[in-house]
Amino acid sequence: MLMNPIGRRRFLAASLATSLSPWISARADDAGPRVLGLALLGLGDYSANQLAPALMKTKHVKLRGIVTGSPEKIPVWQEKYQIPDGNVYNYENFDRIVDNKEIDIVYIVTPTGLHAEYAIRAAKAGKHVICEKPMAPTVEDCTRMIEAAKAAGVTLQMGYRLHWDPFHLHFMECARDGRFGAWKSISAANGYRVTNFGGNNRWRISRDLGVAGALYDVGVYAVQGQLYTAGQLPVRVTATRNTERPEIFTEVPETYEWVLEFADGRKADGMSSYGRNGHWLRAEMEKGPMELAPSYGYGGQKGFTPAGPMDFQHVPQQTLQMDGQALAILKKEASKVPGEMGRRDIFVIRGIMAAAESGKAHEFGSFPG
Ligand code: NAD
Repeated sequence: MLMNPIGRRRFLAASLATSLSPWISARADDAGPRVLGLALLGLGDYSANQLAPALMKTKHVKLRGIVTGSPEKIPVWQEKYQIPDGNVYNYENFDRIVDNKEIDIVYIVTPTGLHAEYAIRAAKAGKHVICEKPMAPTVEDCTRMIEAAKAAGVTLQMGYRLHWDPFHLHFMECARDGRFGAWKSISAANGYRVTNFGGNNRWRISRDLGVAGALYDVGVYAVQGQLYTAGQLPVRVTATRNTERPEIFTEVPETYEWVLEFADGRKADGMSSYGRNGHWLRAEMEKGPMELAPSYGYGGQKGFTPAGPMDFQHVPQQTLQMDGQALAILKKEASKVPGEMGRRDIFVIRGIMAAAESGKAHEFGSFPG
């Protein structure tokens, strides 16, 4: 694709930084391919209904442990997944996992506000870390996580499942390899009209645990889509935030809208919301439009390019993701989704928040790393 030299240099530098640095110090044991053991930390909806079932089908990684603050879940999980007593931890005794040779990876699946604490404790216990999106509340938290992993000689990867989805992989390729010319504009939205914020959804609208509500929880997918379509980093952002149900959204805004601007003036607009529906990733290419809609679910993607409709089989995203992540560890290869990528996305999201708060354009300046 066409990319101006500054944009290209910035993107290449960022890509190198995001792809290489955590691996330079990757642990130098584990000679041949083998099956890695994984412990899920946080046994809520995503662990119970997506990750644990997906781990029944993975080849290179198996569910061998759990970390939970809910004692009533322990017998259920132990029986369902044959987890021995010695591989069950709570949040107080979890650091003892350092002595457990059966666990190689800890997968952090708690509310966002707790990711940094648990990822750092897991790394200090010598375990490779997979962290759910969005990475952590602040860029500084992300840096502490990255440094903890480096210091411990373990890897830190994000749970960005769409990097194993054929619809998204094809979209990335088409946006970037020039077959449809350069992109002219990008649009991405991820929003749901949520009416029940009780139970498990409560933390999503709390500032401590959910940080900025929909923008963090689901908006991170729109930002990801914008960046992997653009193939370069933005220089500035303008944004607005809006709340139509103030009785529910007392700590975080209901909706954010933003426009990323790139060095050559091209733009990518974005939306995330708990009040409005919208699930798309679109790019206007020189040779016509391409689109994924719906775009970010565990399946059900539909899409087209100027060449016609996309025709892929839907895949078990989380199974491919965790197998891919385990293989990267086993082969000591660069992750497609390193912690640096998670930090880059938080940097962009914090810029969106700053622009919405000030009402002025926010200049990104140098990206971290
Ligand atoms: P959930 O509320 O269902 O589960 C959260 C778990 O964390 C619960 O088991 C809860 O007991 C535990 N927890 C520990 N300390 C807690 C505390 N102080 N307050 C509240 N809960 C606490 O949420 P979820 O939907 O399973 O989301 C968990 C993580 O997974 C989040 O980071 C979320 O963004 C991510 N997620 C990712 C995807 C994806 O598509 N990759 C999808 C859903 C959720």
